[in-house]
Amino acid sequence: TKESVKGFLRRNLFVLLTIAAVALGVMLGFALRPHNLTLREIKYFAFPGELLMRMLQMLVLPLIVSSLVTGISSLDSKASGKMGMWAVVYYMVTTLIAVFIGIVIVIVIKPGKGHRDSPVVSGSTIEPVQAADAFLDLIRNMFPPNLVEACFKQYKTVYKKTIYTKNVTVTLNLTDSLNATEAAVAANMSRVLQTIQETVVETIPVSGSSNGVNALGLVVFSMCFGLVIGSMKQQGQALRDFFDCLNEAIMRLVAIIIWYAPVGILFLIAGKIVEMKNLAEVGGQLGMYTVSVIVGLLIHGLFVLPLLYFLVTRKNPYTFIAGLLQALITALGTSSSSATLPITFRCLEENNRVDKRVTRFILPVGATINMDGTALYEAVAAIFIAQVNDMELNFGQILTISITATAASIGAAGIPQAGLVTMVIVLTSVGLPTEDITLIIAVDWFLDRLRTTTNVLGDSLGAGIVEHLSRQELQSQDVEVGNSVIEE
Ligand code: ASP
Repeated sequence: TKESVKGFLRRNLFVLLTIAAVALGVMLGFALRPHNLTLREIKYFAFPGELLMRMLQMLVLPLIVSSLVTGISSLDSKASGKMGMWAVVYYMVTTLIAVFIGIVIVIVIKPGKGHRDSPVVSGSTIEPVQAADAFLDLIRNMFPPNLVEACFKQYKTVYKKTIYTKNVTVTLNLTDSLNATEAAVAANMSRVLQTIQETVVETIPVSGSSNGVNALGLVVFSMCFGLVIGSMKQQGQALRDFFDCLNEAIMRLVAIIIWYAPVGILFLIAGKIVEMKNLAEVGGQLGMYTVSVIVGLLIHGLFVLPLLYFLVTRKNPYTFIAGLLQALITALGTSSSSATLPITFRCLEENNRVDKRVTRFILPVGATINMDGTALYEAVAAIFIAQVNDMELNFGQILTISITATAASIGAAGIPQAGLVTMVIVLTSVGLPTEDITLIIAVDWFLDRLRTTTNVLGDSLGAGIVEHLSRQELQSQDVEVGNSVIEE
């Protein structure tokens, strides 16, 4: 038994270290809270956590590109087509279920009923985003005009306000000898005429961009690129080898960073606990709103998704989830599903033995567009804001919220609090005041961590489900590859 204890410890070393890191982080955080550290001191204190974030983010871009290109180019078109189809079905079904759960819960719990307990904050800096423009931005971002720029910039429509005055034609008979007084009179006259004429203010979308990786564009490009070099037979071999090797090298870097991860997580969590506002202040409506989101995420993550996994694969979902623990805790610590991606890869491939052709294909896409937790939260938040404003939503409006919440979750990048920004799409689609986003900001850092964890869980279970559904194609490809080896 001594050997088995040793074996258990060795196998689960990182999971145990990560759990210990969370526990220590929480204790350290609460121990430091009474000391009222300044924001500056907190930032220094949390520095080891910031470093973990940076290391993980450093690997994300090459990881997304190399894994997608190798994943897809190593599949034949039948296998990648089938896998792609199942992935899309899985993403759509689970995201819609998540939205549905959110809507039911927020309608049942009614966290926003009664008088609003926070004053309206006016003059917020959030610009009036039109839902249509946001949707077009999503599609624009799929086709980045410049791949290098896509590594650090996204397209995001900005608005330009133009004030038109009706054309005023002032005809003055000017002679060559127009003197200074006459010129001044003429100028004054045209100014006066302009102000008395009716003015038209038009807000038009103009091009714009904002900082942040355009992961969606890189995903689309890498998928197409992988498909093409996969079809190039012998000619594509050099590129396939290159990306395969790149992917392998990145995963080895991940294996090194994983040693540092528990330290980083400890400080990320401790730092946040030291920084957070007094929880007692989050009472009333905001407290009930927080509870609604948490209940929704728990139902979705702990019951619905596992049930789906079980129904499809007939395997124990909780064993699968146990293998993911490290990724889930990293998601909790970093608030970013894309920063967690390297760890998710490792958990799925090393602990759960999911086929690499599946993880390489499914995980980068999932981390970019499949966000069940975010979709659920968007729906709850929008309806909560409607309740606070005493606005009765009809069926059509609730349907609109479901659709835009899904779009907002696809559009949100896998970075901290991205969902809070895309919330604007949902609110404007049903005419809710966007400045009311300020109502939920206070608790967003916390809900963000939970929804990110749900997002990562959804992507990972999805990989397991898609692997199961595509097993025939994968096996027949194995056989083919085996044959060709024998022939050689
Ligand atoms: N932080 C989330 C994620 O990375 C996105 C969100 O803000 O909802 O998955």
